[in-house]
Amino acid sequence: DKFNIAIDGPAGAGKSTIARLVANTLGFVYVDTGAMYRAVTWKVLSSGISPDHTADVIAVTDRMDIRLAPGENGQQVFVDGHDATAEIRSAEVTGNVSQIAAIADVRRILTVKQKRLAAVKGVVMDGRDIGSHVLPDAELKIFLTASVRVRAERRYNEIQDQRASVTLEQLESEIAARDRMDEQRKTAPLVQAPDAVLLDTTSMTIHEVVERILELCRT
Ligand code: C5P
Repeated sequence: DKFNIAIDGPAGAGKSTIARLVANTLGFVYVDTGAMYRAVTWKVLSSGISPDHTADVIAVTDRMDIRLAPGENGQQVFVDGHDATAEIRSAEVTGNVSQIAAIADVRRILTVKQKRLAAVKGVVMDGRDIGSHVLPDAELKIFLTASVRVRAERRYNEIQDQRASVTLEQLESEIAARDRMDEQRKTAPLVQAPDAVLLDTTSMTIHEVVERILELCRT
């Protein structure tokens, strides 16, 4: 029987890697909602719009077409037909995404799309507000976390080749700043849903986390 799994947590907790593996194992669809906020941010910046111009940001969000497609290394993201998979991971997008994700109308527009994607059950959706807000009725909710140092280290190893000049300390403060913005925004902030299972992955391997979630699916 198909059901929905919500996976939330702070930046770099391993949500997307784990969500994708769980989805592949169960034959479910993986939806990366962070990629949708990144897609909006990329479109805004590449259109020459300032993230401070809220009305323009909302208008762009309303007009744009975002398509998610399964790819080899995660999910491919198409914005108005343009493959933006790599561009949405840039340092510039990462540095601006939390400001844009704090705009209530941007969240409203993306939440509608996300609910629609999960209407056919059998979805593993990761983000910040999935269990608490987007899919409050998800059959299984996971809150993934890890120490900020470990999360920065994982991110550091991931992006080494693309941002050779970035230091671990820089990444750690970037991640902490993004968490703070995501936790403190007014609309659907990053929070553990009361009925979510907390998994601290600081000293767990990816395999152990995936196995634990699959075990929770069976109970
Ligand atoms: O998951 P990822 O790190 O790619 O998410 C990028 C940003 O998108 C987050 O820092 C957060 O500001 C925003 N986001 C959100 N709600 C979600 C998913 C992501 O606000 N459900």
